Amino acid sequence: METKTFAELGLSQKVQAAIEAAGYSSPTPIQAAAIPVAVTGRDVLGIAQTGTGKTASFVLPMIARLETGRARARMPRSLILAPTRELAAQVAQSFEKYGINHKLSVALLIGGVSMDDQVRKLDRGVDVLIATPGRLLDHFQRGRLMLMGVEILVIDEADRMLDMGFIPDIEKICNLLPPRRQTLFFSATMPPEITRLVNQFLRDPERIEVARPATTAKTITQHFRFTADGEDWVKREILRDMIRTENVKNAIIFCNRKRDVAILLKSLLKHGFNAGALHGDMDQKNRMETLDKFRNGEINILAASDVAARGLDIPDVSHVFNFDLPWQSDDYVHRIGRTGRAGREGTAQSIVTPDELKSFKEIEKIIGETIVWIGEPPGEQDFADAGKRRRGRGRGKPGAQRESGRGESSRGGEGRRGDNGHKEPRRASGGPDRRERRQAPGMGEQPSVHGEAEARNASPRDGASEQRRPEGRAGKQQPKAPRSEAKPQPREHERPKAPAPRQRPRPAEGDQPSKAALSAFQGNVPAFLRKPPRPVKAANE
Ligand code: AMP
Repeated sequence: METKTFAELGLSQKVQAAIEAAGYSSPTPIQAAAIPVAVTGRDVLGIAQTGTGKTASFVLPMIARLETGRARARMPRSLILAPTRELAAQVAQSFEKYGINHKLSVALLIGGVSMDDQVRKLDRGVDVLIATPGRLLDHFQRGRLMLMGVEILVIDEADRMLDMGFIPDIEKICNLLPPRRQTLFFSATMPPEITRLVNQFLRDPERIEVARPATTAKTITQHFRFTADGEDWVKREILRDMIRTENVKNAIIFCNRKRDVAILLKSLLKHGFNAGALHGDMDQKNRMETLDKFRNGEINILAASDVAARGLDIPDVSHVFNFDLPWQSDDYVHRIGRTGRAGREGTAQSIVTPDELKSFKEIEKIIGETIVWIGEPPGEQDFADAGKRRRGRGRGKPGAQRESGRGESSRGGEGRRGDNGHKEPRRASGGPDRRERRQAPGMGEQPSVHGEAEARNASPRDGASEQRRPEGRAGKQQPKAPRSEAKPQPREHERPKAPAPRQRPRPAEGDQPSKAALSAFQGNVPAFLRKPPRPVKAANE
């Protein structure tokens, strides 16, 4: 397909000027394909994940279509449903960015943020309402808004909605909307439940599928580093070596367990790195503060768990490191998709231990390219032994827990004292100083596995990953449900191996958010949410 320019997509001059101001030179594939269809008012089924530029692919045509017409009190003209409050807030920020030349009124209905301003806005009439499904229904049931004026509906990240048990809410909301409307529907994957939803609520949609960035992105350089010694302190030394060797502008380091995120952060700080952490135990405020620091360069290394990092728009990440290989190959795709976004160059480097070789084989299938090893690749015997041995903490057993929170084993010989008072390694086989890049014997040319369909098949979504941070809503019969900022956080190390049922009960979402809750969006609060004279400040600032 020939490359299109933004001028060819049917957007107005005002929208094009905003795109120019955003610094985009050409549309991404999803934008090039979806925008010309969406501006005509047709339904779109976009199969694309975060990092492809999908947000602009619905925000830009929406702005163009909402240019004319006026909003009426309590009757939003368009509705965007997002699975989490962070995503909803990011979409709202996109309206600020791309709508600089427009006077569109945007309201955000999400948990954890004071609703007074937003409700006042709704009362006056909004062009765009962005909401999480539960919040929207709560407000609807309280009679604070009517949905009969919605001309455009956007459902973003539908498969995550499915994982989080939002499908019944989505169905309810769709049935409350006028049947004559445009629907723009986005999902990274198309499990049967999502296909059913599409068949039920979209009218003759244009189906646009773009490859997962990770499966086809030539912009991500992927390297693997095998260590025969899988002890954590060995891995941490290797990691430090990787970071120091690479030209790291900013990096996300993924661990499989939130406890290890904390340990790794401690170690990184001790070794003088400018680091922060993002994991499921942190409250919203801390997460947002850390993310802001990472965005504005105050810290340039972020140790993170999958759950904490999923779906967040963190632009311009130069490197992704996998301290642990993810148990699900799908998560590998998500993780490395944090770099090499929207055509930029990125590097992903993963540490592989003997116990992770089984997971590695799965990941290798979806990469579909020759694997490049830094240092010594694993031998045939390592692969033959893969899965047989269980070291230390039961790699490959998602439910396995460590005995000690310290996380270090003192096995491994006579080294100097290292992180957390534990012994530092003697150089492991294929140690940090050996850096030739080689191909693994017998693993040279893989049959190329392309496209996300196969990527999906290789690792069906387990549906468990997002349950830990649900944007659930208060029970429907309890409009005055107690606020639950500290929502129950299922443990990250409890990721089940087998696919979990998709529809799951949701914990209650906060109902009457406090100032503290509002401050959770410190630095990330879209301008229209801020009260101009008194900008929201984090309590500890
Ligand atoms: P998204 O997939 O919507 O999460 O977007 C991923 C990132 O790509 C965001 O940081 C956008 O600001 C950026 N982006 C979106 N469209 C373009 C474009 N046409 N050129 C360059 N960057 C873009």
